[in-house]
Amino acid sequence: MNSVNYFKGLTTKQAEEILEKDGANVLAESEKSKLIAVFFGQFKDVMVLILLAATGFSLIMGEIWDAVTIIIIVVFNASLGFFQEYRTEKTLEALKKIAAPAAKVFRDGKLVSLPADRLVKGDIIKLEAGAKIPADCRILTQTALECDESMLTGESVGVSKNTSSALCYMGTAVTRGHAVAEITSTGAATEMGRISGLLSDIEPEKTPLQKRLSELGRLMGISCLAVCFFVSLVGVLRGFAPFDMVFTGISLAVAAIPEGLPATVTISLALAARRIYKQKALINKLHAVETLGCTNVICTDKTGTLTQNKMTVVEVWGENERLLYLCGVLCNNAVRQPDGSFVGDPTETALMESAAKAGVFSDNHVRSAETPFDNAARFMTVTARDSSGISQEYLKGAPDAVLGMCGFIMKGGKALPLTEKNKKEIYTVVENMTAKALRLLGFAYRRDGEQGKSFVFLGLQGLLDPLRPEVKGAVKKCKTAGIKVVMLTGDHKNTAVQIASQAGITAGGQTAKVYTGSEISVMSDLRLREVVKTARVFARVSPSDKLRIVRAFKFDGSVVAMTGDGVNDAPAVKEASIGAAMGITGTDVTKEAAQIVLLDDNFATLVSAVEQGRTIYNNIRKFVRYMLSCNLGEIITMLFALLLGMPVVLLPIQILLINLVTDGLPAIALGMEPPDPDIMKKPPRKSNESIFAGRMITKIFLRGLGIGFFTLLTFYIILKGGVPDNGFSLSAARTAALATLGLSQLVFVFECKDSEKGLFNARFGNNPKLIVAVLISFSIILCVMISVLLSPIFKTVPLDINQIGLVFALSMGYPILKGVLKSRF
Ligand code: ADP
Ligand code: MG
Repeated sequence: MNSVNYFKGLTTKQAEEILEKDGANVLAESEKSKLIAVFFGQFKDVMVLILLAATGFSLIMGEIWDAVTIIIIVVFNASLGFFQEYRTEKTLEALKKIAAPAAKVFRDGKLVSLPADRLVKGDIIKLEAGAKIPADCRILTQTALECDESMLTGESVGVSKNTSSALCYMGTAVTRGHAVAEITSTGAATEMGRISGLLSDIEPEKTPLQKRLSELGRLMGISCLAVCFFVSLVGVLRGFAPFDMVFTGISLAVAAIPEGLPATVTISLALAARRIYKQKALINKLHAVETLGCTNVICTDKTGTLTQNKMTVVEVWGENERLLYLCGVLCNNAVRQPDGSFVGDPTETALMESAAKAGVFSDNHVRSAETPFDNAARFMTVTARDSSGISQEYLKGAPDAVLGMCGFIMKGGKALPLTEKNKKEIYTVVENMTAKALRLLGFAYRRDGEQGKSFVFLGLQGLLDPLRPEVKGAVKKCKTAGIKVVMLTGDHKNTAVQIASQAGITAGGQTAKVYTGSEISVMSDLRLREVVKTARVFARVSPSDKLRIVRAFKFDGSVVAMTGDGVNDAPAVKEASIGAAMGITGTDVTKEAAQIVLLDDNFATLVSAVEQGRTIYNNIRKFVRYMLSCNLGEIITMLFALLLGMPVVLLPIQILLINLVTDGLPAIALGMEPPDPDIMKKPPRKSNESIFAGRMITKIFLRGLGIGFFTLLTFYIILKGGVPDNGFSLSAARTAALATLGLSQLVFVFECKDSEKGLFNARFGNNPKLIVAVLISFSIILCVMISVLLSPIFKTVPLDINQIGLVFALSMGYPILKGVLKSRF
């Protein structure tokens, strides 16, 4: 094996001892302070402060029980908020940990991949283009190594590195070449550790939806306060005690303001990120969850994303097969493990394996130079000396790239000049092999030191990389979901077309035009924008072509998801609306630029993430509708009672109870609804579409009116029908109104499951969490009504059978009315 590629490294035991002594390779972050911050964050809420003020007020007035209950409710509310937010934080943190880069390190003589925090001083690591440097290290060997140290120096020009130059620093990135390096310091002892105290934590950015909802919340808050002020004023003018009215106003404000809405959105986005993770995609930035649902174009790689990236050489063409195989082995960066298996790029391990099968090895060659592979040039060379001291340069790459550098061909055991006829013959072979969907590599060599077109063409190897089985279904799903699938590949035109047609990207029979990188590079941006309207396959594209293609798609407002793996893909991935990095083959730099990482590199995973994105957006719409209607219902109840000259319908404590019971669990459970079965049968929503699209404002308003109306009706009927002198007809009316208000909301939550179907067509069984949430809320209301312990606190009285019947009937009033009127609202 090439000596440059092989190092023994530390033993696991040695490494563990050093790890024990030096600690993990991380920049410190305090855990405790976060916990406390989250807890006290709950009390920063203005509403909670208003409530606490109300408590003080009650205490002064001697209403001790009221005060105690309010405090209990406030603490309960804050704890609920605390646990949810803390869980959200934990979820996101856990996801972040998974995203933490791994490092390739030699341990016990084997090249293994380890989480970067396990590295220790003295470890020998392998650095490749696109890798984030995991610790400060000293270079042992390197090839064309260049680093981007802008995160340390602010200087964005690549810095060349060699064995004599200064260290490579933790947190910087390799932009070109590769190296083997020895770690000199880890964690806080690194250069980055020294300055990291200076870098402040960046506030997590709110998603566009969260921003819009907080604005909405603020707006509603102000209008609610105005209404509450008005309610209190009317009350006072009507002769109610001013204290009671101020108190009612305050409670109403707390109940009506949707202060829980932004938090519920964050929680459901985080839970969605976790669900997406279970389907093997990692969300880097929370707002990606939101954008995912609007995706209408997916630009995907071929190798590894549509195909399995399990390559095997199935055809070779060339006169001297031994030399052809040897060239493949020498011009190769895969590493042979002690057990004889290979690790590295699948293309290269396949070449190693095919040679090994033919009995060709290279153990006595010594490598002296390398031009690394790059996606734009599509070739690499290695110079190596054999045991007799002869030094040769070996070339492998895309056949056209290789042929362009050859002036000779191996024929009859001799290097003869490469004629047009030879070339034609080779191109026929290339056409035939690529038409079988094979990935082709050409091979050549020349004497070390020779210049120009002096390479001798050796032949071709064709690799088979089968389609992933899930891909066909996923592509089909995209089609029904109104999402364009476009393939961008560095591979040969024919191979691209074959795979595209196998995957169903180009419809059966219809031969779509394939555009190649060289065609694109001479196109104007204007022309490219036209081309992307119909094109589905782009072959032999370079990373910079990818960037132009993304821009062309985005020009008409499309939301473009784009996959990428190499360092050079990072700009295109960054430019895309949804940048998706490959989890397995992707480089750290690309992963960092991406919003989502496909842990299994699979196209189908991206499609299911889109599905989850659509689902979560729908679910957010569901609970926004639910919470706003409920709050409106409460305001309407209180306001109209006063305007109509009725007594105060609900006592402050009763409003607080309803607020706690209905806004919390059922809303979160609505956020966890499973995908609608037809969610991928509709076109994607426009990215600028309002969350209230589809007459939602009307729906919210009418339903709020309905809740208010039926609650008031309950109150009124019992108030008027009560025996005047039994002493608790007002209490009974209040209790019944409380029950109707609560039950109406618990009935309504099922109506929110579907924007079109009403209560009677809802699919009840598909979200057990919602049923459990509703049952819990229902039990709490029930307890408050019948428990001897709670009744006095919440000022409820037992209802008789007729009153209970009335409550149930009127709680169902709206959906029944809606059914009768066949109304869509
Ligand atoms: P893809 O879009 O399929 O990932 P790549 O950009 O990785 O395409 O590869 C494009 C072409 O470059 C391949 O068809 C192959 O001919 C050549 N190639 C790929 N990997 C290597 C390599 N490690 N060394 C030399 N040539 C390669
Ligand atoms: Mg590739």
